Amino acid sequence: MKPGVNTSRRDFIRNGSIMAGALAISPALLAAAGASPVKKLGIALVGLGGYGGGQLAPALQQTQNCYLAGIVTGTPSKAEEWSKKYNIPQKNIYNYQNFDEIAKNPDIDIVYVVLPVSMHKEYTIRAAKAGKHVICEKPMALNAADCREMIAACKKTNRLLSIGYRLHFEPHNMEAMRLGQKNVLGKVTVIDTGNGFVYTGDPNAWRLKKALAGGGGLMDMGIYAIQAARYTLGQEPIAVKATQEKTKPELFKEVDETIFWELKFPGGQKVTGKSSYNNNWGYLRVTTEKGKFDVEPAYGYDGIDGHINGKPMNLPNINQQAAQMDDFATCVRLNKTSRVPGEEGEKDMKVIDAIYRSLDSGKWEKIG
Ligand code: NAD
Repeated sequence: MKPGVNTSRRDFIRNGSIMAGALAISPALLAAAGASPVKKLGIALVGLGGYGGGQLAPALQQTQNCYLAGIVTGTPSKAEEWSKKYNIPQKNIYNYQNFDEIAKNPDIDIVYVVLPVSMHKEYTIRAAKAGKHVICEKPMALNAADCREMIAACKKTNRLLSIGYRLHFEPHNMEAMRLGQKNVLGKVTVIDTGNGFVYTGDPNAWRLKKALAGGGGLMDMGIYAIQAARYTLGQEPIAVKATQEKTKPELFKEVDETIFWELKFPGGQKVTGKSSYNNNWGYLRVTTEKGKFDVEPAYGYDGIDGHINGKPMNLPNINQQAAQMDDFATCVRLNKTSRVPGEEGEKDMKVIDAIYRSLDSGKWEKIG
């Protein structure tokens, strides 16, 4: 049964199972702990494109702590289609003009911004001003300064802000965090990671326009590799040096195609990364004092695999988006900061800003 607004009101817990690997506290657990039965929180998706429609809406059919309560779209035909498909009442459907009226809608607890990057700041701030908690997709904004404005707006309105970093809920990547941060195989000495795909999509899409996307393969794909280096070490990089390659200048007129970088961390580890809109990459390889581990493929929605000293991690693939949204719903309920708050998005954008500065200067650039 799809969680429509009326059913959600009565949606007391029937099923006590926790999705494998998801660390979200389920309503069943809260109920078992003596808390009164809780209703699922309502999420409104803003932007019903590839990710909103292909991943988040289906994941919201599997969540235990939240459900798809509303949508914001500029396309009336999509509004009708989604309303039918997901049982969304007309009163929970907004467009970009009347979006602020969402403030008066008690069905919507959380607004999830799934728009082109240049629109993240505006819709995050408008959502916070409307009194809603916010999940904003990656990359958080066009630059770190915009991230700070978004964080400040949510603080001012006392709303929680989280970034759509689904891999913090993914078992193999969580294992890499544990192995690296706890020095399980001795200290990490080398990290090599890359993420990219061969772009064959619309040459006029927002992803290839600097004003809308901020950048190319680095902003879209490289951010995962930057994240992975940071969460494997549990440290913040202090400087970066980057170079780039462009083999299809007509397609990537405005944005970067392939970028290579080296990050300097306080612990002196050798950390290299790369991003691309013209290579299929997706790996995290780590060498330690006493061994090695990897996650490969590392960053997709499914099919993630990992090894410790050549032996399989034997961990499950889960619905990452469902785990991520369930966890945020729990954070909202408990008024607890998300493990992927706005500050996490800002940290990646500081690195990305410094990579672009390094491409311009040809030198090492300080991060921050
Ligand atoms: P998309 O192009 O498929 O969808 C974008 C949506 O924004 C569409 O519904 C479009 O109608 C709407 N939109 C509103 N104003 C627009 C404008 N001026 N120009 C273009 N579109 C406009 O993009 P997507 O792949 O769904 O990406 C959306 C966001 O989600 C991006 O920030 C992207 O980085 C992020 N994303 C995250 C993941 C992840 O794994 N976390 C995966 C894919 C995308």
